[in-house]
Order: sequence, then structure tokens, then C-alpha cells
Amino acid sequence: MNTPAPSPPGTTLSPVLNPPGTALTVPSCAADLPFARSLTLGKVKLHIIESGLLWLDGGPMFGIVPKALWERRIPSDTGNRIPLAMRALLVETPDELVLIETGLGNKESERFRKIYGVDNAPPENLPGADRLQAGLHALGFSPDDVTVVVDTHLHFDHAGGNTFLDAEGRLQLSFPRARYFVQKGEWEYAHDTNERTSASYLPHNYDPVMNAGQFNLLAGAGAVVPGVEVFLTPGHTPFHQSVLVGTADARACYMGDVVPTMTHLPLPWIMGYDVEPLRTLESKRLLLERAVAERWLLISTHDAVVPWGFAEKHGRDVTVAEVDGVTEIRAPFTSGPEDG
Ligand SMILES: [Zn+2]
Repeated sequence: MNTPAPSPPGTTLSPVLNPPGTALTVPSCAADLPFARSLTLGKVKLHIIESGLLWLDGGPMFGIVPKALWERRIPSDTGNRIPLAMRALLVETPDELVLIETGLGNKESERFRKIYGVDNAPPENLPGADRLQAGLHALGFSPDDVTVVVDTHLHFDHAGGNTFLDAEGRLQLSFPRARYFVQKGEWEYAHDTNERTSASYLPHNYDPVMNAGQFNLLAGAGAVVPGVEVFLTPGHTPFHQSVLVGTADARACYMGDVVPTMTHLPLPWIMGYDVEPLRTLESKRLLLERAVAERWLLISTHDAVVPWGFAEKHGRDVTVAEVDGVTEIRAPFTSGPEDG
């Protein structure tokens, strides 16, 4: 293109993401990411687990935002694809071990994994059917220890690790002792798909959980267990939910797909995948207003570079500030990239 495309109205550049003195590096494979990172926030311990990478076309990831703008934030590969994390949040409360989102799992075909550039195989030196389960082990837990699983919605890259195929090829619940939670409206939406939505909803990710009597359907906002509550952030799907952790004086928000990467913090940067983008706009507006007023720790599902940061306002922009006191698990857990 010879002339730069105009910015969509209201677009402002920059979330200022680079912590001073650090260069941000875009990962080329899952093993480039720290395996897990941990932080204490008030009375809860938070761990983010990098359950793998996906490579998706940058066009639909940024909706109406021209490539001339988004590629300054996230460079794409020769196939126009950008790397996306699939980040789960593990929360230790006094009584529960809560897992928010489960990544993509290990049930999909090689063809599927190639199309989406899935890179989530576990490192060889850890137990676990996928990188999420291995991450739990790296943190000193096992899948049996998880008591609560919360899905923001049921798309395959968020709820795919709810179940897994064991070494004999049998489908099992990944967290056999857990109660799983999702919005009732999302459950119904996932079972009433159309030509545009069906590719994202794969029943083997959630029907076996319901058949085992372990799926709990929520009707709107509220506490799931003490210290973990959900609120509705519709738009990506009509009953998408985000998750708040902690107490009023120290709160973290796992945003899910309402703000999939920190590059999506500007209000009009909304994914083309969203079924109701104007509702996403209002969900984001409300979420970010509260986040700034209460200085939430914002946690991104898909940002491959900046996993979390405290919400701050700079002029009209919401940005995230660097987080101190983070411990990382990196070496010796390594694995090679897959075909993605
Ligand atoms: Zn989604």
C-alpha cells in the first residue's frame, strides 16, 4: 500500500509496555517463554502458566485496525501470523486451588495443530499430557490438586485443556477432582452454533465434564469461591466472563478475550472474531475504568510478550506498569518448537 491507512477514530497508539531498560522480545516458540511466573498479591498467591503458543493471522486479531498500525506492536511472520500465548492463571486461596482457563489441550489432529500453529507439547523432563499439566508439576502441584476450574468461555484455545487424551488414547477429565465453572449462557451458545461460530466450539472440550456431573453453570456475576469472582464481559461471545481475584485492596483481573493482548488496550482495537464488537467496546470501557480506579493487576491470556501489569492511565491511554517481585521458572524445562 502506498499511503498509510487512516487510523480508526479514537485510536491512540501505544500502550507503553516496555519496562525501562528492557527490550521486549517476541517468542518464536513456547520454550522461549518462562514456564511459569509467580507473585503474591495481598493474601493470594498467583501463578501464571504458559500453556503454549498459537500462531494466528494478525488481520482478524485486530479487526478494523490496519496492519500498518498493529505490526508496529506485534511483528507478523511471512504468513501474516502473530504468536499468541495461551496463559492460564493458577490461584492459591486459603481453601482452594483455582485454575483459570486450560489452554488448548492435546486432543486435536496434526492437521488442526498445523493450521493454528499450535506449540504446546510438554517438555520431555516433566510429567503431564500438555504444557499446562507440566506447568502444574513444575510449580509443585498435580492436576489432582486443582479444586476449581473457571473457563472464561468455551473456545478451543481457552477450554481445550479441560479434558485430555491419556497414553492409551482415552479421553479423561484433566482435573478429576475439580468443579468446573462457565456461564450458563456460554454453555447454551456453545451448543447452538452456526456456520461462523462452530469451528471454535469443540464438544469434546466440555461435554465430558458435564457428563461427569462436574460442570457448574453460572447465571451472571458473583463469587465462585471466596476470593475468586466472575463478571460478565460480553462481546467476544455473548456470555464471555472475566475473573477477579483477591480483595478490594489488591485485585487481579484475568481478562480473557475481552482484551486478548495488551496491544488491545485501546478501546477500538477489537478482534474481528468477536460476534458483538460494539458490546466488546462497552465491556472494555467498563473493565478498564474499574481497573484504573482500583489499580488492578491486569492479566492477559494471549499477549506473548507482556503477561501482566498494573493498570494505569496516561492521558487517554490505559497502559500497564511493570510488576515487581515476580519469580520465574525457566530452565531446565525446555522443549523444542513444533511445526508451528
Ligand atoms: Zn475466544
